[in-house]
Formats: sequence, C-alpha cells, structure tokens
Amino acid sequence: MAAPARGHLTGRLAGFGTTIFAEMSALAARTGAINLGQGFPDSDGPAEVIEAAVEAMRGGHNQYPPGPGIPALRAAIAAHQRRFHGIELDPDGEVLVTTGATEAIAAALLALCEAGDEVVTFEPYYDSYAACIALAGARRRVVTLRPPDYGLDPDALAAAFSPRTRLVLLNSPHNPTGKVFDRAELELVARHCRERDVLAVTDEVYEHLVFDGREHVPLATLPGMGERTVTISSAGKTFSLTGWKIGWACGPRELVAAVQTAKQFLTFVSGAPFQHAIAHALALPDAYFQSFRAGLQAKRDRLCAGLEAAGLEVLRPAGTYFVNADIRAIGEHDGHAFCLALPQRAGVVAVPTVVFYDAEDVGRPLVRFAFCKRDDVIDEAAARLARLASAGA
Ligand code: PMP
Ligand code: GLN
Repeated sequence: MAAPARGHLTGRLAGFGTTIFAEMSALAARTGAINLGQGFPDSDGPAEVIEAAVEAMRGGHNQYPPGPGIPALRAAIAAHQRRFHGIELDPDGEVLVTTGATEAIAAALLALCEAGDEVVTFEPYYDSYAACIALAGARRRVVTLRPPDYGLDPDALAAAFSPRTRLVLLNSPHNPTGKVFDRAELELVARHCRERDVLAVTDEVYEHLVFDGREHVPLATLPGMGERTVTISSAGKTFSLTGWKIGWACGPRELVAAVQTAKQFLTFVSGAPFQHAIAHALALPDAYFQSFRAGLQAKRDRLCAGLEAAGLEVLRPAGTYFVNADIRAIGEHDGHAFCLALPQRAGVVAVPTVVFYDAEDVGRPLVRFAFCKRDDVIDEAAARLARLASAGA
C-alpha cells in the first residue's frame, strides 16, 4: 500500500495509504494496459435486474429506505440463505442490509471489538480487514496460508488465539488465493470458537463462485456456530453489479442489532432503488447461479492456460474471481516490481499479492490476476503475456 500523502491521518490508520486496487486501476488507466488487477467484471449483470432498478427509480423509491433494509430485500436474503445454505433467518431482526460487504465488515468490527481485543484472520487478507481492525482499536493475529495449496496449519491456528481473542474473521471462498476452506478446516476453526467462546464474522462474497463441483460451506452451518456467527455477503460479485454496493449481514438477533448500531452511524441506510432490484435478483432461478458459476469456471481455465503458456507457475484457484501465479518460474522474485513493470513489458496490469501478507517473504513472488473479464479480453491479455515467455525472461 502506498504511504499516506499527508501528515494529518490518525495513528490508527498509520501506514494505510491508497488501496492497491485504486493504485493498480490508475496504472491501467494511465498506461492503457488491460486491467486484470482490480476484481470487477467488464460486463454488467442481468438486464432484468438493471430494469428492476430503473423501475424502482421511476416508481418513486428514491428516498431513505428503512434502516435495516426494505422488507422485500430482507425477505429475499433470508430466502436465499435457506435455498442455498439451509440457514433459517427471521428477516425481521436477523438480516441487515448494508452498503456492500465492505460496510458490513467495518460495522461488525467496530460494533463487536473493544480496544485491545484481538481478531484472528488469515493471510493473505483482503485489505479492508487490516484497516477496519485498526479503526476498531483492535489487533490482528494472522494465520498464514502458504502456497501452493494454502492449507490451514492447525498449530498456527491454535497459536493465533489468546485470552484477548474477540473474534475470527474468515473469508471463504478466499480473496486473493481462490482457496475454498473445506469442511474439516472450518470445523477446526469452529472448535476454537466454541471452546474459547469467540465470535465469528465471515465474508462470503464469493459464495456462488466455487468450482469443479466443490461446495461452499458457511461457517454458521457448523454445530454451535449459528449462535455466534455474523455471515456477510453482497450482491456485487454474484450479480456482476459491483458498483451498486448492496450487501448484508445475517445472524443472531443480538449480533445483528450490534452491527446495525454501528452501521446506522456509518451510512445510515443504503441505495433504495438498488435494494428493490437486488430483491428481484436474489429470487432468480437456480439456472442463473449455475450458469454464472460455470461461466467463471471457464474463464478461470482460459486465463490459467494463458498464464501457463506465458511460463508462469499457476496456483489454480478453487473459487473466486482470481488466480495467483508464482513468478519465480520465469526468473523473477519481486511481485511488486514485476507488477509495476508489467504494463510496459506486456500491456497488462495485475496485483502484487504481497500487499495482502504480513509475512512478506511468503507473498513476494506471487501475483494476482482477475479473470472476471470478457473472453476476448482474457485472450488478448494472454497473447500479450506470452511475450514474457518468448522474451526468455
Ligand atoms: N470482501 C472480499 C473478499 C472482496 O473481495 C470484496 C471485493 N468486492 C469485498 C469484500 C467487498 O465487497 P462489496 O463490494 O460488496 O463491498
Ligand atoms: N474486491 C476487489 C478486489 O479484490 C476490489 C474491490 C475494491 O477495489 N475495493 O480486487
């Protein structure tokens, strides 16, 4: 992350500059390179969902919606959790609509942590986790996921807990690695939570992007976890509408009420017309979700083949929008320097995975590429990256 530009920033945010996503998208804009950095699709979501938003605007849904979210969307979120995960929720009190998953994560951390509490999370971690833990006055205790398989080390997990542990912040399917935590790993996490009476906050924004027949298991569905877990997701990824920023937090009434207390002072309420449209989107038939998943799996395969042809070692993701490559296979070591040079060398932008690691040695040779792009864009990026191999780099 780049250093902050001015000296007025609170100490809690010392070291947090511009996010890597903004930095790399700016680099792409400046150089005209293909942007496989920031994870956003280059095609919009279903036309009928966009029409539903237009209708909501024309229909006069343009003023502040209710604090917890409009009833139709809360009901649709509860129905979605039942349909896909077997989770039963009362839309009235156990579901909160937020401004994207980003706000739900921030509100949960601000609402649930005392200053000095510890939050166990897994690295590489999504960048807002570190910033929000810091804003809450808490400390992060990080469990390192190591390539190539990013397995969960039980000893490292146990060592991350202490009497100060307040909650575990878990992202599965996991950005940036593409790891999907399996049931045994989740059970290990759950056991620590139960035995130590620790809460869990889960970020499941890629819940519909699990490949090769794998399943996404929400932590809240494990024994004893429903009562102590805030489950967070959003519409951005699932419906290719990342700019709408409609997310949600679900869980036991008392936890959701706490998150809502913080949320109301962050944004008060969120995107009225979009809420109507996402209520419609969540009720789309199973076929939508299946073809979304199959489409992204095919894009994963397409980009992986291109990266392999470029001579990179591909760490094939089990889910999400992202694939990591190890650049040591082409004689490089420093992912950050590589990404800064890549627009000039190959006309492509990617993200250095090291920025998501505290253990920089582990992340240094890794580079993240987003494959949520049109096939012709992936193909053009692959053709350009092939220069790396042909240059004999
Ligand atoms: N969590 C993860 C793991 C993400 O990759 C993202 C990026 N979209 C978010 C949260 C933020 O989601 P939203 O855009 O809904 O705020
Ligand atoms: N989640 C997206 C990514 O990981 C970016 C979202 C953002 O820019 N904050 O690339």
